Amino acid sequence: TQQITLAQRPTGLPDDSTWSLDTVELPDPEDGQFLVRIDHISLDPAMRGWLNDVRSYVPPVQIGAVMRAGATGRVVTSRHPDFAEGDAVTGTFGVTEYAISDGTGVSRIDLDVADAPTWLGALGMPGITAYFGLTDVGELHEGDTVVISAAAGAVGSVAGQIAKARGCRVIGIAGGPEKTAWLREIGFDEAIDYKNENVFKRLRAVAPDGIDIYFDNVGGDILDAALANLRRGARVVICGAISQYNAESLPPGPSRYMSLLVFRARMQGFVVFDYEDRYPEAIDAIGAMITEGSLQARETVVDGGVAAFGDTLLGLFRGDNTGKLVLRVD
Ligand code: NDP
Repeated sequence: TQQITLAQRPTGLPDDSTWSLDTVELPDPEDGQFLVRIDHISLDPAMRGWLNDVRSYVPPVQIGAVMRAGATGRVVTSRHPDFAEGDAVTGTFGVTEYAISDGTGVSRIDLDVADAPTWLGALGMPGITAYFGLTDVGELHEGDTVVISAAAGAVGSVAGQIAKARGCRVIGIAGGPEKTAWLREIGFDEAIDYKNENVFKRLRAVAPDGIDIYFDNVGGDILDAALANLRRGARVVICGAISQYNAESLPPGPSRYMSLLVFRARMQGFVVFDYEDRYPEAIDAIGAMITEGSLQARETVVDGGVAAFGDTLLGLFRGDNTGKLVLRVD
């Protein structure tokens, strides 16, 4: 099987020297194990963080180890009581064509409900993140004015549609006119193109009474612009900070953080894994929205197999993707 391993830790953006494409022979599955043929691999901004040798919510990927990644695939052979040949599954199989698993963290997926890429997007970790980030951390209420950054991405596009379905006014921030047009198409009330518009001024114009929930995926200047436009009692959900993931020095602090005091607002970070016991709740809620047609699950699926992993990952930082970025392995 071909797999991508970590050759060396990057400074700044990862490049070819970060990765090694290796061909290895996998052993046969032992008792309690099964062999999976991977068909799609998830590309996640968090992958950049896993390359740094620092303490975080998961340990870093070790040099020489297969790159950690969520994926979908089919069970080829099984000596595990709960998984049978032909089962469609999802789990953290890594950037590889085949994987041996003992079932830890693996669940079966129903391809009649949605295609494999959607199980990595709206019905996978990004969708679950959107759901709990909004409902639990953001304490979403009907009538709230909700602002979401990286709104045309995997997490942001689901978060916006959930907020809309719950009776909120939703404003998305994304890069470029195609993305903002798509946001309006899927029901966002307003969409701001941060590459061509002044985010601070546009937020002030479209949310004159202020923001109740700011769901932050990007950090940096966009976070500052949102902080400067909060409403009293606002909740700022710190989901991610992709604008900072390749930075070689620490960012200047959020210069507007005193807004938290002025507006009696709350800013809270969270990690989706804390909600593991409640994943089915999110998948049921999002799945029902897809079935009734009130949520568009969109993916950007790239061909090229595991060898294309390194460049495909950089697409997240260029904004190549609308919706969830997925690598197809055939
Ligand atoms: P996306 O599908 O949103 O892809 C990343 C997007 O970020 C790109 O398409 C691009 O869109 C945008 N982007 C890239 N660079 C910048 C920049 N410098 N400034 C502003 N926008 C930028 O990824 P995900 O939905 O998977 O992840 C979104 C965020 O959620 C990330 O920060 C991620 O780390 C976080 N996350 C957090 C979890 C948690 O448990 N807390 C779990 C899962 C994800 P554009 O063209 O609009 O710039």
